[in-house]
Formats: sequence, C-alpha cells, structure tokens
Amino acid sequence: MTTKKCITCNTPLQNTETAFCSPQCADAHLACQMDRIEGEIRQKYPNILCPICGKPGSGEYRPFCSKRCADIDLGRWMKGSYVIHTDESPDDNDEPITEK
Ligand SMILES: [Zn+2]
Ligand SMILES: [Zn+2]
Repeated sequence: MTTKKCITCNTPLQNTETAFCSPQCADAHLACQMDRIEGEIRQKYPNILCPICGKPGSGEYRPFCSKRCADIDLGRWMKGSYVIHTDESPDDNDEPITEK
C-alpha cells in the first residue's frame, strides 16, 4: 500500500480521497497551475498582439502593449456597460404632453 502525499507540501495524507492535506494546499496548487498555464501561453504565443493598436504585447500588460492600451480597453468596456443604460430614450419632458 502506497502512502498518498499532499501534492503541494508532501505531507502524508490521512484522507486518501483528496490529493491535498488542506484547502490552503489545494488553493496553492491551483494558483501554481494557473501560473504554469499562463507561462505556457506566453511561450506559445510570444508575439501576441495588442488588441488596441496591434503592437506586440509586452510584460505585465499582455495582451496589451502598454498600460495606456489596457486603460483604453477598460474604458471601452466601461462605456459598453453604460450604453445599456442610455438605450432608453431620454426623458426631457420640459413640456408636458396635453391630451384633449
Ligand atoms: Zn499540503
Ligand atoms: Zn497597444
């Protein structure tokens, strides 16, 4: 019989139903997996292009080339959510509609 160990910290597990000794270790492992996946994506697509200006993305702002472009995209997204509210016709009822 083999002893299962926590994937994250190698503590022998009492409960063999899980792969982790604690929820913290499960979270840590998940976070590490995410980092790995992101690293793989960056390696696979080193020339990912900025969706705003088409320049190659760089550093922490990927897929954007710069903070400026990331801000522009955020601004567009924000505007997009405002559009939903401005879809309604403006009610500037300065003159009340009189019915006869
Ligand atoms: Zn652990
Ligand atoms: Zn850009």
